[in-house]
Amino acid sequence: MSTIDRRTFLLAGALAAAGVGLAGCTFPTDWVRLEASAVESLRRRIRGTVLVSGDGGFTEAWMPRNGRYADTVPQLAVRVADDRDVATCLSWSAEQGLPIAVRGGGHSYGGLSTTRGLVIDLSQLSDVDVGSDGLMTVGGAATNADVLEATVGSDWLLPAGTCLSVCVGGLALGGGIGYHSRWAGLTSDHLRSARVVTADGEVVDASADEHPDLFWALRGGTGGTFGVVTEFRFDAARVPRDDIVYYRFAWTGADAALAVLVELDRIQQSAPAEFIASAGVQATPVGDDGPRAAMDVFVRGQFLGSEEDFRAIVAPLLEAAEPSTTDVRVEPFWEVAPRFTNPASENHSWGDISRYADAPLPEAALARVVDLLADAPSRSATTNVQFWMIGWVGGPVIDAVGRTDTAYVHRGMTSLLRPTPVWANLTDASLVADLEEWTAAAIDVLDPHTPRESYQNFPNRAIEDWEAQYFAENLERLREVKSTWDPRGVFASAQGITPSA
Ligand SMILES: Cc1cc2nc3c(=O)[nH]c(=O)nc-3n(C[C@H](O)[C@H](O)[C@H](O)COP(=O)(O)OP(=O)(O)OC[C@H]3O[C@@H](n4cnc5c(N)ncnc54)[C@H](O)[C@@H]3O)c2cc1C
Repeated sequence: MSTIDRRTFLLAGALAAAGVGLAGCTFPTDWVRLEASAVESLRRRIRGTVLVSGDGGFTEAWMPRNGRYADTVPQLAVRVADDRDVATCLSWSAEQGLPIAVRGGGHSYGGLSTTRGLVIDLSQLSDVDVGSDGLMTVGGAATNADVLEATVGSDWLLPAGTCLSVCVGGLALGGGIGYHSRWAGLTSDHLRSARVVTADGEVVDASADEHPDLFWALRGGTGGTFGVVTEFRFDAARVPRDDIVYYRFAWTGADAALAVLVELDRIQQSAPAEFIASAGVQATPVGDDGPRAAMDVFVRGQFLGSEEDFRAIVAPLLEAAEPSTTDVRVEPFWEVAPRFTNPASENHSWGDISRYADAPLPEAALARVVDLLADAPSRSATTNVQFWMIGWVGGPVIDAVGRTDTAYVHRGMTSLLRPTPVWANLTDASLVADLEEWTAAAIDVLDPHTPRESYQNFPNRAIEDWEAQYFAENLERLREVKSTWDPRGVFASAQGITPSA
């Protein structure tokens, strides 16, 4: 088999492993021809593992969680062991003219952690250490699960995300929101320092005292943009000693969906930092009562205070529509916290677009969103549409940091709204187009009533003015930092900040 034939074969194998059909398999236009001797020389220099298609572990080292990007197959992936390996990958790929992508846990909504070149897989850098003073040292690809395991039962919590397989690094570099951010702040607001392998292979520490411009950019400017962070140091939050309230309420039907969204939106305008809520509405398979009745609605969260005060806050919500189930428990903090975690889901595809809100939405707009849910293009368990109203993003703790104090700009918000289509991999393209159209229609409804800001950790390639929506008034400064630390654009992606002109 000639070199080129073998490579075609390997690429086809990798695509097949990714669930991508073989028919019409051709070389991507940006494919760089690699000599076997070059790969061998890399193997000799790397302490970790160099993987090519056909090697055990290759797929796990690059496969994006969002199945939409499963056809962006790298030529090789390097499971790095340390900073030096990262620097070696950067210099070697520059010699070969090969693009690189940095991968933590592969959760990028926009598939930004894979490439047709070399994937730098950080998964071995997953150590977590918690000091008695709450100073946490977290490896560049430690997951939410690793961090939770290291802190559960202790006095300390790093407010991070919900999905256990998401890496805290990728999360923190774009902000980091979750069920604890409203009372404890964003993950990035807890960052004390980061060890960074820069575009030219230098290893630097970034903190308020050392390279403060880089430190500023790392707190919200997104991963894969300014360097490879191999280790983070966070100041953890102290967990409440008193028992807290966990709750989950559920309803069904479009009328309840509208009443709940309107009332929760109103409550969140003035709720204390201790009240945390998110609402979800999902179109479900249509039964005898028609499409408007086929909608699951829930609100869940926690309250760091007494049950009496909690019930006073949620009373209007429960009066707005009668729930089908209610679950309220008063429990120690560490019994509640694991309830907000989700295991990694089966590989599937999704395409949500997020919008922050900073004021109550008109009822007519929410009614239109509910109408769109009733007209869902698909309602199966694997292919459906949902609407999320996430109240984790606002409140006095998050807003104690100013919009330009860190690269995460979205302060002064009350909720994050997310029309969310999900679909099984290999779903028919026309149905995917319908789902995307549905999402765009929902964003059109929200657009006049929200600032044009979108969460950079939920990147979607359909957002044309993504730089403005993710970074707003921080964009120019981010470009300047990029010019200083990566003027040649080594860390590039479909939605990566470019250096100032
Ligand atoms: C199922 C699911 C649940 C989620 N839940 C939440 C949530 O509750 N809260 C929230 O805020 N976000 C959430 N997210 C979004 C998540 O924060 C981002 O997708 C995050 O960037 C994922 O990081 P990762 O390392 O797992 O993914 P990757 O795709 O590997 O990385 C994401 C980006 O960060 C870069 N990157 C990763 N690690 C590093 C590093 N150490 N140094 C430099 N660059 C790096 C990558 O190059 C890529 O551009 C969720 C995503 C999914 C898919």
